[in-house]
Amino acid sequence: MTTTSGHRGLVMDEPLLFEQDAPGRCGVDLDAPQGRPLKLGGLERQGAIGLPGLAEPQVVRHFTRLSQKNFAIDAGFYPLGSCTMKHNPRLNEKAVRMAGFAMAHPLQPESSVQGALELIATLAHWLTTLTGMPGVAMSPAAGAHGELAGLMTIRAALTARGDARKKVLVPESAHGTNPATATLCDYAVESIPANERGRIDIEALKEALDGDVAALMLTNPNTCGLFEDEIVEVARLVHEAGAFFYGDGANFNAIVGRVRPGDLGIDAMHINLHKTFSTPHGGGGPGSGPVVLAQSLVPFAPLPYVVADGDGFRMVEHDPSGRSFGRLRAFHGQMGMFVRALAYMMSHGADGLRQVAEDAVLNANYVMARLKGAYHPSFDGPCMHECLFDDRTLKDTGVSTLDLAKALIDEGFHPMTMYFPLVVHGAMLIEPTETESKATLDLFCDTMLALMERAQAGNADWFHESPHLAPWRRLDETAAARHPVLTWTPEAKLL
Ligand SMILES: *Cc1c(COP(=O)(O)O)cnc(C)c1O
Repeated sequence: MTTTSGHRGLVMDEPLLFEQDAPGRCGVDLDAPQGRPLKLGGLERQGAIGLPGLAEPQVVRHFTRLSQKNFAIDAGFYPLGSCTMKHNPRLNEKAVRMAGFAMAHPLQPESSVQGALELIATLAHWLTTLTGMPGVAMSPAAGAHGELAGLMTIRAALTARGDARKKVLVPESAHGTNPATATLCDYAVESIPANERGRIDIEALKEALDGDVAALMLTNPNTCGLFEDEIVEVARLVHEAGAFFYGDGANFNAIVGRVRPGDLGIDAMHINLHKTFSTPHGGGGPGSGPVVLAQSLVPFAPLPYVVADGDGFRMVEHDPSGRSFGRLRAFHGQMGMFVRALAYMMSHGADGLRQVAEDAVLNANYVMARLKGAYHPSFDGPCMHECLFDDRTLKDTGVSTLDLAKALIDEGFHPMTMYFPLVVHGAMLIEPTETESKATLDLFCDTMLALMERAQAGNADWFHESPHLAPWRRLDETAAARHPVLTWTPEAKLL
């Protein structure tokens, strides 16, 4: 059905704000400032800067509608593998909005932010307790930033012992940030293949480990959703070669309260607070990626850090030993994420955190068991917090993993992660998380099974047209990256 307005129900078909421009229209009605000297020293605005003329209600409606077109964990099931899109308890939000936290400024005198410092120290204590590692650097702003902090710490430790190594080993299935971080730190990246069980190939690792390897970066559970069951041996081999063992802790959600990474022999590991300990994320931020460290790395950790001092707490901003690799960023870290993560930990308690891991693993295995047969699990045996399928059962249907994901949008689900990890053909990586009910999982599984039936019955054209019901149909997957339009002009719209 077409409509006169172009709207469909409550989905508005509206132009860009720039296209709504009415020159001279303005959202505020203020007199031009009179008789006040400008202090901008010649940097004051010389003319109009091309913002569209709009009334306030127009702007409010525009952005409210845009926000409604956005899919979020608060809107529906979001099984994006490797992202841990779990429910964010509102208790966290209440805590973080308390004025003492929300209004604190990092340049306030220490005596006036003792509560905030205590919170950082308390969160640090629980992170080291849960991981069995003695130290933690709190300042990294996300997982990838934590990797950077970890590798810079490792490099500082190696430099201190006069052992400038050149290589970092990364398994084939690694998240893209692992090789990116190693490259950013000027290391050559060497890829280690997976074995037929989806775990790191120990023989290949042994061959690659020589005196030039600074570190192995390994995710556990790995990005195939599998526990690296030879990890203790991996750690032994890495240490025997004089290298450090970096653990990518993005999937800590699956083992929190059950396994302490320090006991596995890991020397440094970032924790994505925004994945394991809730806190909203996606759309580019915000995150928080503290790095826990083994004793051998603690002296080289970034500044600043909080220490207990008499009855209070203080920030250590300078390292008298000169061994810290320095500052990673201004100030102490993502305070808002710290408050949320600690609220999450304390409201769950030890038994609750343990149950998080158990339920996350149970939910993923439930989805795997229900989809198995119609979909082909990439590896034998149970999975951890996410289940991985390849596209074998779509063979000869003319329907791809991408088509299937687009059809899921019509059904009101955010698609799973597609085509990652790269070790699996046409990969579909599904992470339900622990906060979804059996009813939600069943509806999702019923939908996935119905879609597969539909694909196998020969409806390729229908799939190629999916999504049929979304406000936008198929977008060009790469145009925004290849031809970004950063300044709007009437001509730019035509591109
Ligand atoms: C999410 C993720 C990262 C990167 O973390 P960000 O917080 O997005 O920077 C790294 N490794 C794995 C396995 C991840 O899932």
